[in-house]
Amino acid sequence: MPDQPAPRLEVQSLSRAFAGRTVVDDVSLSVAAGQVTCLLGPSGCGKSTTLRMIAGVERPDSGLVRIDGQVMFGPAVNRPPEARGVGLMFQDFALFPHLTVAANVAFGLTGDRAAKDRRVAELLEKVNLTGFGPKHPHQLSGGEQQRVALARALAPRPRVMLMDEPFSGLDNRLRDGIRDTTLDILKEEGAAVLLVTHEPDEAMRMADEIALMRRGRIVQKGAPYNVYNAPVDRAAAAFFSDIN
Ligand code: ADP
Ligand code: MG
Repeated sequence: MPDQPAPRLEVQSLSRAFAGRTVVDDVSLSVAAGQVTCLLGPSGCGKSTTLRMIAGVERPDSGLVRIDGQVMFGPAVNRPPEARGVGLMFQDFALFPHLTVAANVAFGLTGDRAAKDRRVAELLEKVNLTGFGPKHPHQLSGGEQQRVALARALAPRPRVMLMDEPFSGLDNRLRDGIRDTTLDILKEEGAAVLLVTHEPDEAMRMADEIALMRRGRIVQKGAPYNVYNAPVDRAAAAFFSDIN
C-alpha cells in the first residue's frame, strides 16, 4: 500500500496551562488541504490559545504541530511564526491604516514587483474589490475591510489559514453573505483552514468537520450534521440548541 500523504496540518496532544490552570488540554486534530475544520466552543474554552500555539505566537507546554509532515513545534523544535507558512486572520482586521489597500495586500509578498502586482490584482478581483487598490482602509466599510484582510492573509499562499472569529466584528446583515464568499475563496485557494468560532450556525455553514471544544478539551469531532444530530452529551446538545 502506498503511504498516505501527511495531512496538511497535524496537531497532536497540544496542552497549555496559565498560572497552573490548564486551558488547552491534550488537543489533537488534523486538517487536509482544501478542507475547513471549525474549532467550535463557548467563550473561554481555549480556542484562541490553541490557534495561537499553532501559529507559533504562544508556546505550548507539550505536544506536536506539523505542517505537510514538517515539525513546526515539538520536543526540540519551535519554528517562528513567519517560518510556518500560515496565514492569520483575526476578529479585528488589523489593516495597516497608513498603507493603501494594495500595499496592505502586498505586505507579506516577496519577489519582483510585476509578480506582486499580479497577485494583488488577482486577489482584489477575488474579493470583489477591483479598483480599491489606491484607497486607504478608513475609506472602506467594515465588510470591505474584512475582505482586504482576507486578501492580505491569502496573498503569500499560506499552506494553513488560521482564522479566529473572523466575522464577529461584522453586522448580522452582512455576515451570511461574507461567510459564503469567504468560503468560496478559501476553497479556490486550497489551504487547510482552521476556523475558530463560538457560533454553531457559522460552523454548520462553513465546516467540512467540526471539532467541538469544552473546557480545554475536544469532546466531539465529525461532519457538521453528525455532530448536530448526534451530540455527544446533553451539554453539546444544549450548545447546538441556540442555533437559529
Ligand atoms: P476562547 O478563545 O475559547 O474564548 P482563550 O483561548 O482565549 O479562549 O482562553 C482560554 C482561557 O485561558 C481563558 O480562561 C483565558 O482567560 C485564559 N488565558 C488566555 N490567555 C491567557 C494568558 N496569556 N494568561 C492567562 N490566562 C490566559
Ligand atoms: Mg477567542
